[in-house]
Amino acid sequence: MRLAVVPGDGIGVETTREALKVLGAMELEIGIEVFPWGADHFLKTGEAVPEGAFDMLARDFDAVLAGAFGDPRVPDGRHADEILLGLRRHLDLFANVRPVRALHDSVVPLRNARASDVDFVLFRENTEGAYSGRGRVAGEGTPDEEAIEEDVTTRRGVERICRAAFTFAEVFDKALRLGRRPRVLMADKHNVQKRGGGLWHRVFFEVATTFPSCETRHLFADALAHEMVRDPASLDVVVTNNLFGDVLSDLGAALQGGLGLAPSGNVHAGRTSVFEPVHGSAPDLAGKGIANPFGSIRSLGMLLAHLGRADLAERVERAVAACIAAGETTRDLGGRLSTSDAGDAVVARLGGRTATGLGRAPRGSAPAR
Ligand code: ATP
Repeated sequence: MRLAVVPGDGIGVETTREALKVLGAMELEIGIEVFPWGADHFLKTGEAVPEGAFDMLARDFDAVLAGAFGDPRVPDGRHADEILLGLRRHLDLFANVRPVRALHDSVVPLRNARASDVDFVLFRENTEGAYSGRGRVAGEGTPDEEAIEEDVTTRRGVERICRAAFTFAEVFDKALRLGRRPRVLMADKHNVQKRGGGLWHRVFFEVATTFPSCETRHLFADALAHEMVRDPASLDVVVTNNLFGDVLSDLGAALQGGLGLAPSGNVHAGRTSVFEPVHGSAPDLAGKGIANPFGSIRSLGMLLAHLGRADLAERVERAVAACIAAGETTRDLGGRLSTSDAGDAVVARLGGRTATGLGRAPRGSAPAR
């Protein structure tokens, strides 16, 4: 395995460090290379990433672990767009996979729900829709100013993300565990967005016919937001477009305990894929050593699962869950640990060394469990 690591900016640097610590506690033959792309690099060199960098990642690495991108010194976020959107576009990472899985009752903000009620996976289309970058502004600064943002939907784009969601649903452990057919829900707004939404609606149900083992369901995106709060247990796999997926996955992050806990993957099966926490660089927290590293650590778990080590991913999830249960968390979850101590706590739960109770495990020292 060859892993590229791009910690990026702000708390991304701090949380990625903890994910690497956890990786070091696993017995894995893995080559790691860290790339310094982020605001510092951009301000120093004038380039977000060197020429040919994306090709190099695709050619030389199995996966990328990313931190977060964004820095007040680059107010238009140009370098962040170039790196993150560049990675997604260049590597054609069309599936943004965002699990919404609460690891402990204490982190679920809903009054009548338990952790076991919050366990679904959101598939967000990652390459088109409202984030196509197309559009125009006329009459800027005048009273008649008009901005047009083009929301681009292609049959190919919808078909492949729907197919990815159904394919995943067929092996989703929640449905397997409960011994029932997995449910795949698609959310759009084809009542008002008749063209793009209409295409989503038609293609989703066409693809569904080729996955008879799955139950299918449709909700409008606003109704899905309501359902996520009212009855999250009714959801297994949700597929939606780029914009709705972006918004709903923050709601999903809240359902599982907050942005500090939410992992994600930008995936294209068989290609170099990128895993990163859902949160951004959080400049308000950067440098304070208080950011929650669990989202990064769980993203590492997703990366390992993507590379065929679902067993290690589950170990990571269990270790993080045990930390939460024991109150070994950063302050966003009510604990008192620093970012680094929270990373150490996960390592200790994985069976790493615990010299001070929360000690650091040297690479490869952890017994497999
Ligand atoms: P982006 O636009 O890049 O998604 P953002 O500025 O909208 O970023 P984040 O950087 O994700 O949002 O942070 C929003 C807020 O959530 C932060 O100010 C912080 O309070 C909280 N937050 C985010 N990530 C974490 C974390 N890992 N630990 C604790 N709090 C976090």
